[in-house]
Amino acid sequence: MARYVFITGGVVSSLGKGLASAALGALLQARGFSVRLRKLDPYLNVDPGTMSPFEHGEVFVTDDGAETDLDLGHYERFTGVPARKTDSVSSGRIYSNVLEKERRGDYLGKTIQVVPHVTNEIKEFLKIGEDEVDFMLCEIGGTVGDIEGLPFFEAIRQFSHDKPRGQCIFMHLTLLPYLAASGELKTKPTQHSVKELQSIGIAPDILVCRSEHPIPQKEREKIALFCNVRSESVVPAYDLKSIYEAPLAYHREGLDQAVLDAFGISPAPRPNLDRWHDVADRINNPEGEVNVAIVGKYVQLEDAYKSIKEALTHGGMANRVKVKVEWVDSELFEREDAAPHLEGFHAILVPGGFGERGTEGKIKAAQFARERRIPYLGICLGMQMAVIEAARNVAGVATAGSEEFDHEAGKKRFEPVVYHLKEWIQGNHKVERKADDDKGGTMRLGAYDAALTEGSRVAEIYGTASIEERHRHRYEVDTKYREALEAQGLCFAGMSPDGRLPEIVEWSDHPWFIGVQFHPELKSKPFAPHPLFADFVRAAVETSRLV
Ligand code: GLN
Repeated sequence: MARYVFITGGVVSSLGKGLASAALGALLQARGFSVRLRKLDPYLNVDPGTMSPFEHGEVFVTDDGAETDLDLGHYERFTGVPARKTDSVSSGRIYSNVLEKERRGDYLGKTIQVVPHVTNEIKEFLKIGEDEVDFMLCEIGGTVGDIEGLPFFEAIRQFSHDKPRGQCIFMHLTLLPYLAASGELKTKPTQHSVKELQSIGIAPDILVCRSEHPIPQKEREKIALFCNVRSESVVPAYDLKSIYEAPLAYHREGLDQAVLDAFGISPAPRPNLDRWHDVADRINNPEGEVNVAIVGKYVQLEDAYKSIKEALTHGGMANRVKVKVEWVDSELFEREDAAPHLEGFHAILVPGGFGERGTEGKIKAAQFARERRIPYLGICLGMQMAVIEAARNVAGVATAGSEEFDHEAGKKRFEPVVYHLKEWIQGNHKVERKADDDKGGTMRLGAYDAALTEGSRVAEIYGTASIEERHRHRYEVDTKYREALEAQGLCFAGMSPDGRLPEIVEWSDHPWFIGVQFHPELKSKPFAPHPLFADFVRAAVETSRLV
């Protein structure tokens, strides 16, 4: 039966709870334990699928097709454990389950209340898969004291009592602000946030204290005394140059030891941190640098493309170079020449996106990369735009476009080279979508197989003939145009196993031009860079040598 670590936050948000959880997961693995990480989010959206990337950052998609919080991406990148649908839940999902049960009459006419009905629903969620791993790490979103977070805090408090003694611990992240005027680190906010936790019945076992300045031993002892924890369990967390140093840094400060001590696991198995030493070495000692442009719409909020940014970093690590990413707003050159905006980059990446805004600029970016022979990686919408560009400018379909942008009834502006898919095959069953489906959850979502064309560049890069990658989209490239496009050199290098859905296109006579309908960035890890990203950065390095 799994031991549980509940991770909460106090004082302010954005302290890096997700990173601390992910790093702890990696450290427990390094000591030979199996782990699973979970995120419980207090917001009322049922899932983040329909939340704006501006507000919420990227939607992370799991193999089993859940649209989840981007923290699950961190978890996967640090532990390599593929997240599942059941690793992320929101208040919205919990309440909707409870209300559904109430409507069905499952509660036999009882009055439905937050305690025990909502808290029970949360506890049931926590238990899923508890027999599969040694440690379950559960992060509660938001900060202690938030109104909407209360049912989660109450549920984990109850949960720790339902379980035998010593099977659950609480780890709390706080901030120690520094007052320059007096040259002091202040512990009061931490004391207050621990009080807040205690007032709802939770006594933290471990305090992780974020600080921009070294925390003197004296202060650690003070925090320990006032917050009722052991002084070895006050773990400093300082700012790092790279997030991938977090496992080593937390290990140095004794986090994993403190966690094992709190569970009474002794003697603690020795950690093997080779993987993280190699990762840190590659991050800290690059032998060169390349400039990559990400041409997109949500460029103001970098979190919207979190996994892509990370996957590029991993690609850089594979080649021992630093990847400098510049975000280019595609709307800037919808009506003018793209060249002044894109010249000088060693590679261009057009990421996924929704809606028409900015797409003409992305089409121009694909054209620029094709004509100038600059490495191009088009992801999802980025592949669709590359196909539209090829259809318009090479295959003579002047009005080529996507059905996604033709929403005005009776007014067809585009020849739909990219069209709305109504049914498809997943594994061995048929999925159907009706015109009046809800906005959420109507996409081709999660892992799908693809067969790669023999002799294609992607088959060589992957080193295999069949792959499995994650999807999140409504529209597909129409095979109607395959022949015309292939005649011009745009090879359909990856197809769904039934041959109906184009998964990858590549320009055969271009140094590196690949469009993929899926999201390879979701599966890249610092210790196992995704082959497409590793090779894309390799191609960028080659371009940088030419100029
Ligand atoms: N909007 C496009 C579609 O739904 C692309 C989606 C994406 O890039 N994730 O097919």
